[in-house]
Amino acid sequence: MNHYYPFINTPLPYDYHALEPYIDQKTMHLHHDRHLQTYIDNLNTLLGKNPVLQRYSLAELVTNWNTFPKQLQIPVRNQAGGVYNHRFFFEGMSRPGQNFPENTLTREIQKQFHSFDSFKTLFKDRALSVFGSGYAWLVLEQDMLKIITTPNQNTPDLKTQRPILTLDVWEHAYYLKHYNLRAAYIDDWFHVVNWNKAKMHFQQS
Ligand code: MN
Repeated sequence: MNHYYPFINTPLPYDYHALEPYIDQKTMHLHHDRHLQTYIDNLNTLLGKNPVLQRYSLAELVTNWNTFPKQLQIPVRNQAGGVYNHRFFFEGMSRPGQNFPENTLTREIQKQFHSFDSFKTLFKDRALSVFGSGYAWLVLEQDMLKIITTPNQNTPDLKTQRPILTLDVWEHAYYLKHYNLRAAYIDDWFHVVNWNKAKMHFQQS
């Protein structure tokens, strides 16, 4: 993996068409090759001009942005967040078919949210509640699973929250296929969630 400057746009862990028919190939091309690439390029430019930031990993950049010189704080949060969030989102999907496997995470979801359906309903409601652009997340905070949202390219607070799963609800993530229907996109996304990957984040000590 590529955690330090200079950042490169690591390839998707599946084919661009792998998420069809739920997320279309063209959206995946544009989203990965153009949107994420732009965040990578902007972050490299920013760090190229501010070498003192080059020793920070991507996760450290999104955790410590508010300790940096004032004029760098928002640019770092936006650009590093854009790379961190997109990588997390893309890696959290896989070809359809593994719906909701039985594993330590899915058992915990059933325990804490009573059932997969109630978790799904809650997650969908939160994702729909994001006004404008942002993300819905499943995070672990003090052994509790929580559904949170972040605006723009803000990340969860990595000091206290461990991301398990994220959904990009910026319009560019779904507009070509789902037009303005964010709810339909969210339903489709549930078919391509990579629960094994999510479980790995959950179990990581
Ligand atoms: Mn995006």
